[in-house]
Amino acid sequence: MNDALSIARDLVRCPSVTPADAGALGVLEKALGAAGFEVHRVTFSEPDAADVDNLYARIGSNTPHLTFAGHTDVVPPGDETAWTHGAFAGEVRDGFLYGRGAVDMKGGIACSVAAALEYLRDNGGKPKGSISFLITGDEEAIAVNGTVKLLQWVAARGEKFDHCVLGEPSNVETLGDCIKVGRRGSQSGTLYVDGIQGHVAYPHRASNPVPDISRLIVALSDEPLDHGSAQFQASNLEFTSVDVGNAAGNVIPGQARAKFNIRFNDLHDQESLRTLVETRLAKAAGNRIKAHIAWEPSNANVFVTKPGAFTDLAVAAIEQVTGRRPELSTSGGTSDARFIASYCPVIEFGLVGQTMHAIDERTPVSDLEKLTRIYRRLLDRYFG
Ligand SMILES: [Zn+2]
Repeated sequence: MNDALSIARDLVRCPSVTPADAGALGVLEKALGAAGFEVHRVTFSEPDAADVDNLYARIGSNTPHLTFAGHTDVVPPGDETAWTHGAFAGEVRDGFLYGRGAVDMKGGIACSVAAALEYLRDNGGKPKGSISFLITGDEEAIAVNGTVKLLQWVAARGEKFDHCVLGEPSNVETLGDCIKVGRRGSQSGTLYVDGIQGHVAYPHRASNPVPDISRLIVALSDEPLDHGSAQFQASNLEFTSVDVGNAAGNVIPGQARAKFNIRFNDLHDQESLRTLVETRLAKAAGNRIKAHIAWEPSNANVFVTKPGAFTDLAVAAIEQVTGRRPELSTSGGTSDARFIASYCPVIEFGLVGQTMHAIDERTPVSDLEKLTRIYRRLLDRYFG
């Protein structure tokens, strides 16, 4: 049985809590292999991390090349006795498929596989271009042996993608309300202010970094980084902790530090952002305050897929099936789309995210059917 519900149930029944595969990729290998896909199973390793299985499957050798990306790993079920139906039983009750991964994102993968198989069946077993699946088992945890390496592995074979659909649960309330077309970047750092340690009774012999770091925190927090762009809300710098590590009540501390995180839009990249903040810091500190920032390494750069032919195609397919015109959104946290965006334009569209990572994660079976029809319409239009 190759309908979305059967594939989703088979996947949910594999308890593939990261980094375990528990047979999940085998379910896809079997279904895709039988339809003529060339299927590769690739295991990646990293010191001090578990080995993780990944899958890349492709049919066709021509362009355009559309890839469906996703992850078969899931977060732990939590207290399994709290589930109304078993977390890995794949039960259907009252029109809902229950189970960990039902929406995030085994259900989404099942719909894309079902849609591709249906498309091939109706088109003589061959796409006009190429269809592929880029599926990792390492997304929910540290994500070092997953999509990043799989993308490099595919590129090393000389293969290129033209477009990608990542089936993460992008919808907020109802199927069809939201396509994610980008994410803000993230950059963390620590602000240090050096003073001179001394006795509180003799402040003239010391230099207290506490009032000085307070001034700098206010200066850096008060001035907006920008006022938003066409597709993004304004960037934001947020201080998250202030610390002097001083246990004594009669000592002026020698150093103060404050941690912060910046969520930034497409008006910046990491380098220009660091320069902007450091320039403002130098101005606020003047010649008197000794301050510097230690930046943390970050691979979360901003990305956006500009509205155009590809997003129009997705919007039309969604509207045709659901009657809703989805918003093109750049809100929310990060996903593997940030890695894919370096290779080709990527959009995220999947099921409704409401119950993801929760007890009783579930999706209406009717949403699985509709999402399959949306992906199918998208394939028809893409290769049409
Ligand atoms: Zn996910």
